[in-house]
Amino acid sequence: MAAEDRKLLCLACGAVNRVPADKSMAAARCGRCAQGLATPEPADVTSEQLAALQMKDTGAFLLDVWAPWCGPCRIMAPHYEAVASRFQNEIRCFKLNSDQNQPAAAQLQIRGVPTLIGWNAGRRVAVQAGAQTAAALEVWIRKSFNLASTIK
Ligand SMILES: [Zn+2]
Repeated sequence: MAAEDRKLLCLACGAVNRVPADKSMAAARCGRCAQGLATPEPADVTSEQLAALQMKDTGAFLLDVWAPWCGPCRIMAPHYEAVASRFQNEIRCFKLNSDQNQPAAAQLQIRGVPTLIGWNAGRRVAVQAGAQTAAALEVWIRKSFNLASTIK
């Protein structure tokens, strides 16, 4: 049996796209508006977009919940960008400004920032609070999304 297709939500137009499990996310384009479904850098999402992602998207995606006044968030940002680029074929990386999207932050039960949350196959699979280095993030991502590890 072939691996199941993923349903990826297009942030630009809201269309849900079927993408084969073995196709790189970075290469996937929206069938309706032709926008790339993944970006090499973490893309900003709103409360509304996050609600749609949680309801409709069955791909692997990560969310960095951050705030503009948060020092550790600023420290982690380049590390998160590095892993977003590193995993762009497997995982879509998003970020949510919790000051501008308080309904979403409340719904996610965020207690502090930065908080990283991962979803896969329509379920929340991992949560981690606090700033992390790119190396620590990579280990956590591989474990959370069951990706083959090169680190023993
Ligand atoms: Zn689209």
